Amino acid sequence: MADSTIQFLRDLIAINSVNPSLVHEAAGENEIATAIAAKLRAGSVDVKIEQVVPDRANVFGVLEGKQEGRSLMWCGHMDTVGVAGMESPFDPIEKEGRIYGRGSQDMKGGLAAMIGAILDLSKNGGLPAGRLILAAVVDEEYASIGAEALVRTWKADAAVVGEPTDMKIAVGHKGFQWVEVMTEGIAAHGSRPADGRDAIVRMGRVLSRLEKLDRELQSRPPHPVHGTASLHASLIAGGRELSTYPDQCTLEMERRTIEGEAGQCALEEVQNIIRDLRREDPEFRSSARFLFSRAPYLTPADHVLPRMMESALTKKGTQPVRGGMSFWTDAGILGEAGIPSVVFGPGGAGLHSVSEYVIAEDVITCRDALIELAKEFCCGK
Ligand SMILES: [Zn+2]
Repeated sequence: MADSTIQFLRDLIAINSVNPSLVHEAAGENEIATAIAAKLRAGSVDVKIEQVVPDRANVFGVLEGKQEGRSLMWCGHMDTVGVAGMESPFDPIEKEGRIYGRGSQDMKGGLAAMIGAILDLSKNGGLPAGRLILAAVVDEEYASIGAEALVRTWKADAAVVGEPTDMKIAVGHKGFQWVEVMTEGIAAHGSRPADGRDAIVRMGRVLSRLEKLDRELQSRPPHPVHGTASLHASLIAGGRELSTYPDQCTLEMERRTIEGEAGQCALEEVQNIIRDLRREDPEFRSSARFLFSRAPYLTPADHVLPRMMESALTKKGTQPVRGGMSFWTDAGILGEAGIPSVVFGPGGAGLHSVSEYVIAEDVITCRDALIELAKEFCCGK
């Protein structure tokens, strides 16, 4: 396909931008940031580069309108997850309308659509009014230090985060909480059950309560945008050697959250489980601590952005669908900073897995719908 946006998408996939906080000594975002900045400059878009931490920088492209109006931000992350097990992660093979490669769907497809859209506006007479900001950020796949740095210095009246939604206009997504649980035992020779207390078996009691809680969470009435909450045991460690009673077991678990749940609900639930288990067995020893969380996000119900996004898609011949996404995105950070956001990006499959692709036609439709959106949204007051 000769389309210039698809060409640039292939260039982006060919650049290794694996997140260095996720994968030791990975390439990071430097090379891709340089390529994006050069592309924007070549298209007469003003470029700003802002260092987030040494060797990692956000790239901004700004298009000023000819008149006063509203400001719109398009935000996308440049980093990808690792490439273990992939045959040719940086070779953008095109097959049956799909473009393969690491980051093709998550989210170089969305990023290419946004870059293509701002370049198109710049080339074809500029932005009629308002202000358009393209924000290409670092580190979404780890701790979102790019989006956190962005909201410290940039403001906008609304934003579109181009994560892959299969063309759905996502007006919210779930949050998550991470909790560490520890159980204690007593180390002893494996032949001396009277002396030993098994920390791993004790964790088993916690795990079976967590399984029950998860079933209960998933059987609650679903939130219209977020669906139901859930939890899973992510990592577990314990024990010293085969012939010794383990004195300690540590579990790290994740709880996915929906609107209306308390900021540390996962910790409270785990503490309740520990309290119950201790009531049943006074010898039971366990503790829990809160590790990290991100809140769920909802686009303000009365905001014009989702409706305008719908009409832009309709103009491009695509039936708009509104809904929510299961995964957390940088829209959570933008929204919390006072920039109402939707998530909207191309279809595909295999994000974070060994065979990832994006649908080329969707990337083009995304770009064209974003152009329409900018023209309409930025002209408003
Ligand atoms: Zn992503």
